[in-house]
Amino acid sequence: MAATIYYEKDAPIDALKGKKVAVVGYGSQGHAHSLNLRDSGIDVAVAELEGTDNFKLATEHGFAPTDVKTAMEGATLIIITLPDEIQAKVYADAIGPNLAAGQTLGFCHGFNIHFKYIVPPETVNIVMIAPKGPGHLVRSEYEKGGGVPNLIAIEQDSTGDAKQIALAWANGIGGARAGIIETTYKEETETDLFGEQVVLCGGLTALIKASFETLVEAGYQPEIAYFECMHEVKLIVDLMYEGGMSYMRYSISNTAEYGDLTRGPRIITPQTKAEMKKILSEITSGQFAKEWVNEHQSGLKNFNALYEKDHDSQLETVGRKLRDMMKWIDSKKV
Ligand code: NDP
Ligand code: MG
Repeated sequence: MAATIYYEKDAPIDALKGKKVAVVGYGSQGHAHSLNLRDSGIDVAVAELEGTDNFKLATEHGFAPTDVKTAMEGATLIIITLPDEIQAKVYADAIGPNLAAGQTLGFCHGFNIHFKYIVPPETVNIVMIAPKGPGHLVRSEYEKGGGVPNLIAIEQDSTGDAKQIALAWANGIGGARAGIIETTYKEETETDLFGEQVVLCGGLTALIKASFETLVEAGYQPEIAYFECMHEVKLIVDLMYEGGMSYMRYSISNTAEYGDLTRGPRIITPQTKAEMKKILSEITSGQFAKEWVNEHQSGLKNFNALYEKDHDSQLETVGRKLRDMMKWIDSKKV
């Protein structure tokens, strides 16, 4: 079934005109939503922690950030752009106790609502507008007169106009210019986790690490292995991003294409796909969410140890050296 997609004509901004919108957290998404909504003529109140860099940034951008309670007072829409792992605590401490009937809670990702770490009362609306891009792109595309596609989901409609409010929010950040695709909290949350675990973050880094190690263990120089197994990933991904697998295959050599078609299925095997199904079931059962919340609550010991191990690996050490040789790369160090 093809998805329902909304555009500007389906998403009048009127539902928020003359109303107050609170944005809680002025980070990657928060700053973009605040600035775009304000430029779209909406009254925006920002909540940030006093003394932080993002508090300063919000002030420089002409907002007067306050605590959560003050920002959300009288707001039609309260957009929660806090890190997912701290949303439940901030909700319990500051948002939940100050919620009024008829207000709309807006999220950019479904994790806390879908897995019930936040359970708002039935008297409020729960909506989601999830831009399919980082906050800085949401801002820069808007400034160019465009927008990043958004997902929309309505979890709870207490006032009868939850969807109009969410569509107006998407319009105000530029999303309606690109398209707003209808989904549910369940679909957005589960597919987002699956994508980042299996492909974008987990799958890709594991593929790069194992291939780099294979070449180095066979006696090849780590610098050469880095170029083949890590650096060139971007060239291929850019081609697929622009024109799909067909365009990538049209652009690479016939030798590369033959190797691709015949060897790829030996790397990602039916056994790998069975493991993907297992990972998906850990996501849908809530097992992954519980594990991650426990990890966070117990001080991120395992998380930090795993991070450090990769950070100090030969792949990363060689990569830092080689990226310094490529001046056109705006190379970043963490
Ligand atoms: P960030 O970590 O970039 O920003 C969160 C902000 O909240 C920071 O400025 C942080 O301040 C601030 N903050 C922390 N605690 C409090 C508090 N108690 N009161 C007020 N402000 C506080 O988050 P993201 O923008 O990355 O993520 C926000 C949401 O958007 C998440 O649900 C995420 O899943 C979703 N999302 C993110 C995307 C992305 O590309 N980043 C894409 C699509 C959705 P400080 O840094 O000073 O601690
Ligand atoms: Mg995602």
